[in-house]
Amino acid sequence: MKAIDLRSDTVTRPTDAMRAAMGAAPLGDDVFGDDPSVNALQEKIAGLLGFEAALFVPTGTQSNLCGILSHCQRGDEYIVGQMQHCYRWEGGGAAVFGSVQPQPLDHQPDGTLALGAIEGAIKPDDPHFARSRLLALENTLGGKVLPMAYLQQATALARSKGLSTHLDGARLFNAAVAQAAANGSDARAEARRIAGLFDSVSVCFSKGLGAPVGSALCGSKELIARARRIRKMAGGAMRQSGVLAAAASHALDHHVDRLAADHALARRLAEGLAGIEGVQVEPPQTNILFVDLVGPAREKSAGLVDALAREGVLATGLYRLRFVTHLDVDAAGIDRAIAAMRAYFRA
Ligand SMILES: *Cc1c(COP(=O)(O)O)cnc(C)c1O
Repeated sequence: MKAIDLRSDTVTRPTDAMRAAMGAAPLGDDVFGDDPSVNALQEKIAGLLGFEAALFVPTGTQSNLCGILSHCQRGDEYIVGQMQHCYRWEGGGAAVFGSVQPQPLDHQPDGTLALGAIEGAIKPDDPHFARSRLLALENTLGGKVLPMAYLQQATALARSKGLSTHLDGARLFNAAVAQAAANGSDARAEARRIAGLFDSVSVCFSKGLGAPVGSALCGSKELIARARRIRKMAGGAMRQSGVLAAAASHALDHHVDRLAADHALARRLAEGLAGIEGVQVEPPQTNILFVDLVGPAREKSAGLVDALAREGVLATGLYRLRFVTHLDVDAAGIDRAIAAMRAYFRA
């Protein structure tokens, strides 16, 4: 029995069509700038999101690092949310490698950073303080779509105070697809509307888009030229990386609109888990479902993840479980997850 892996949307394997695209990709040496598949991908993602230029990098972590270090100098600071990947989950890279100080802020329940808190965190030009240089936001954040009106206000506030803006859009296309469904518009147009508010955007190809490896940083020509130097220092300048860029390019052509199916499966799981005593389901906005265990369910939490794994259902968490849907999950798998949860709690 093949396990249904809901630990993350990073676990997808390339489809046969994606492998064929990788196998057929024309290759060069990207450090010399002559890998045609890398160049084509960079042009495609920059054009799609409305930027002058883009840089293909191995990981989302490196994409954010190149972004932050391209905006900030040693002794600058970036304002960021406590739960954002580029503060909490990247080993403190911007501080370690760039001497760029983070100024973390708490999130509001919808994932946003309060405008007043952002404004209050911006330091005056005074030798006591690090130089407030950058506002970094993340969308989606824990599967939540930050409201478009908020993104407009937050980026306008940053600009009015002379700060640059960076979006960690590892799951930008999940946000865009959800927003497109709500507005009756097109996912690519929504992705471009969101991205257009920021000076730089990082996007992951190896999350819901289903490529094995890769991320891109998008920005102005000048910013991407600086980022290229940082990528080199970070050891992320690759050679025949067109074999990977081809997978990302295939994902952009074929795996964007289908994210709606992942979102529908997350809703199916949420509905299937509703009504189990002590199992509180947070209605999912995209492909990530959080479930909090309270009361009697919390007391039984210790063995849950292992018990689910024995039923071929992989998830993470203890009192707060996370289930992530993706390309390699189908309705039958979701129904197996629901059945395993109900059996465990005898609901
Ligand atoms: C996954 C992720 C990243 C980068 O992850 P890598 O594992 O380095 O590719 C960055 N930001 C967010 C929001 C992510 O979810």
